[in-house]
Amino acid sequence: MDHFIYRDGTLHAEDVPVSRIADEVGTPFYLYSTATLVRHYRLFDEALDGMPHLVCYAMKAASNQAILRTLAAEGAGMDVVSGGEYARAVAAGVPGDRIVFSGVGKTEAEIAQALAGGIRQFNVESEPEMQQISRIAAQMGKTVPITIRVNPDVDAKTHAKISTGKSENKFGIPIDRAREVYALAASLPGLDVIGIDVHIGSQLTDLAPFELAYRKVADLTEVLRADGHDIRRLDLGGGLGIPYARSNETPPLPSDFGALIKRTVGHLDCEVEIEPGRLIAGNAGLLVSRVIYVKQGADRQFLILDGAMNDLIRPAMYDAHHDIVPVVEPDAGIEQVAYDVVGPVCESGDTFAKGRTMPPLAADDLVAFRSAGAYGAVMASEYNSRPLVPEVLVKGDHYAVIRPRPTFDEMINRDTIPAWL
Ligand SMILES: *Cc1c(COP(=O)(O)O)cnc(C)c1O
Repeated sequence: MDHFIYRDGTLHAEDVPVSRIADEVGTPFYLYSTATLVRHYRLFDEALDGMPHLVCYAMKAASNQAILRTLAAEGAGMDVVSGGEYARAVAAGVPGDRIVFSGVGKTEAEIAQALAGGIRQFNVESEPEMQQISRIAAQMGKTVPITIRVNPDVDAKTHAKISTGKSENKFGIPIDRAREVYALAASLPGLDVIGIDVHIGSQLTDLAPFELAYRKVADLTEVLRADGHDIRRLDLGGGLGIPYARSNETPPLPSDFGALIKRTVGHLDCEVEIEPGRLIAGNAGLLVSRVIYVKQGADRQFLILDGAMNDLIRPAMYDAHHDIVPVVEPDAGIEQVAYDVVGPVCESGDTFAKGRTMPPLAADDLVAFRSAGAYGAVMASEYNSRPLVPEVLVKGDHYAVIRPRPTFDEMINRDTIPAWL
């Protein structure tokens, strides 16, 4: 559920007409709904009611300061995967003891940064990384909580590029080597081995792979406890999918996910963390774009938008589907037209949809890509020297630009010319 609905014949973001923002900000831009962000966070928080838990928003999905602040004010923790994300979380007012650090290749500088600023735990992904964290923590006179990310060799049945829990993926340590690796961890200075971490992939639309993974984690908890490790925290990752095509997808709800967690690991008396990203931000954001031209090709019509693959790369990168809707509500029963929806970038991959049936559109019409809040703005680039796409946040009847569109001068002046040139 989101807060982007037609009212009085035009698409609204909460109580603000999308067309008004488009006129004032210019297109393309990302548009987020505060109410949707908060609602989705709370659904996860409530799903784990009754067990000690922390919902750590996977901020790589959408990491604007205003979004982080909105969620932090709700009590959210943050899952970060780089020094830049750690700095963003701290800048948004998230205390270190609510930040978990994930990622397969934490550098020495990133580890030191988090140790100095405070960290809830590192999710360790390999033995060399564990030794590195141990060395730096000991050097700084600190003991830092860690979990070890295990790779449960479970097929998440999602797109190959966002599947992370199979043995051939780069993530985590093989679960059948866990006892050995935990023994090593327990022997190293500067580490407090408190738990287990798992994250099997993104955009999962079925709970079965989660269930397989969490049962393996539950079994491993008992094995490691028998080995003498005080396993008291389970980080169960993120990955719950969202409906990208409204008509035919019904992924499980956060409440179903929470019930599964209680069923699989609830008896272990552990504190639980989850790291949802997409489900919190995905349907809380639109990409709003304007039609530049409608072009008749040899055998098809092209809808040429001012938004492009550099603004939203998911269709090019993951073959992702996004519903694209006109901002002016189409008349019921209007005859649909098939379009190839494309951007102006000089690549054939700059295609959002092929043969998409939509109400007829004309130059200057506004369209909105639904479910664009996650892995949208954060993956945007300035390819073709198209200024980085701006972001706007709505709350009730007001809105604010939370990242302005750079001017051409700002874009150019980021480059520096050597003195010898
Ligand atoms: C990307 C990622 C997440 C979030 O995944 P979503 O599908 O956005 O929920 C959580 N944890 C880790 C370790 C990740 O890499």
